[in-house]
Amino acid sequence: MAGINENYLKLAGSYLFRETAHRTAAYKEAHPEADVISLGIGDVTQPLPPVCIEAMHKAVDEMAQADTFRGYGPEQGYDFLINAIIESNYKEYGIQPDEVFVSDGAKSDCGNIQEIFSTDNTIAITDPVYPVYLDTNVMAGRTGLLQSDGRYAGVTYLPCTAENGFVPALPEKRVDLIYLCCPNNPTGTTLTREQLKVWVDYARENDSIILFDAAYNAYISEADVPHTIFEIEGAKEVAIEFRSFSKTAGFTGTRCGYIVLPKTVMGKTVSGEKKALNPLWNRRHTTKFNGTAYIIQRGAAAIFTPEGQKQVKATIDYYMENARLIREGLTAAGITCFGGINAPYIWLKTPDNMPSWDFFDKLLKEVNIVGTPGAGFGPCGEGYFRLTAFGSREKTIEAVGRIKDQLKF
Ligand SMILES: *Cc1c(COP(=O)(O)O)cnc(C)c1O
Repeated sequence: MAGINENYLKLAGSYLFRETAHRTAAYKEAHPEADVISLGIGDVTQPLPPVCIEAMHKAVDEMAQADTFRGYGPEQGYDFLINAIIESNYKEYGIQPDEVFVSDGAKSDCGNIQEIFSTDNTIAITDPVYPVYLDTNVMAGRTGLLQSDGRYAGVTYLPCTAENGFVPALPEKRVDLIYLCCPNNPTGTTLTREQLKVWVDYARENDSIILFDAAYNAYISEADVPHTIFEIEGAKEVAIEFRSFSKTAGFTGTRCGYIVLPKTVMGKTVSGEKKALNPLWNRRHTTKFNGTAYIIQRGAAAIFTPEGQKQVKATIDYYMENARLIREGLTAAGITCFGGINAPYIWLKTPDNMPSWDFFDKLLKEVNIVGTPGAGFGPCGEGYFRLTAFGSREKTIEAVGRIKDQLKF
């Protein structure tokens, strides 16, 4: 019988969304008349920008003719998309075409990137956190067992709470890999350029690598929040950036993202020899991935046209108006809220420090609203709760009104 990768047995069950769905379904069954509104969804709801639809239709037609048909493309992505990405986002930082790798999304990239690192590397993650960073390192054997405090042995957790303004403190013990997500899911908070520089400086001084997830960069509204880590001086030697069209342009079901990995980012061999990471990722990507569909890459490239930018902005403005309504409505109701200014997430402090699953039940039963308990994103998420701005305007207004008028404290 084949042996299994026992690291998988260390993983905690994917409890969070299964449990929220289960409790919601049970409530609906017992109260079929209830109009339950979900502000728990971490998925976009507005359709793709018309420029993408148009570009994809055209690409489909190309596939129908032998002289314009495309088979396998370059695994790293087509030049038309890579050049558009660089022109729009990275020109001033000198990023080259062979430093951009187009993929089927940031989840795969964030999960796969750890393969090019040694399994004895130490990792740091913020707490609460997007679960992919941690779980993929558990699978790779870079952690010990899950302990009773909800943390895996051998992982450096960086608490992000109201007390530190959701700005993680530098680890006491040196780490090799640091995962940062800015703007953050689930907290909706950000690091300023100055705060991110502290991390870049740390990585440079300690020969660490920052894995920077910028999936929500399109939601940034404040001037001091960096859109890319490469805005920070010296980041090109220590950082890998992840981007996605999912939250930017509604590609959650269409699938396209990319990594920016400058050739100046180095790791070392056991014998201490420095090696660039870019060729390793290139090898990994071209061996295990056969390229994002041509039709999808055409759709993604359309976003970078002036018309595309306008359409993307209109949808993001729509979500961010929802975020404002939630944030201001809840604040007026006496609830302390974070995020919602540079991200489509509102991270609220549960009243009287109520456990986040109790608050989930209270919100569901008293006002028929579904959100996501903070504890599901890590031990430091306990006492917090996530609401998202991805709902419709109408439902969002209705939900905020119920919380303001009917929720009992
Ligand atoms: C949604 C999300 C992603 C994007 O994932 P895709 O695979 O590109 O859809 C990446 N990171 C975070 C933190 C996210 O919330």
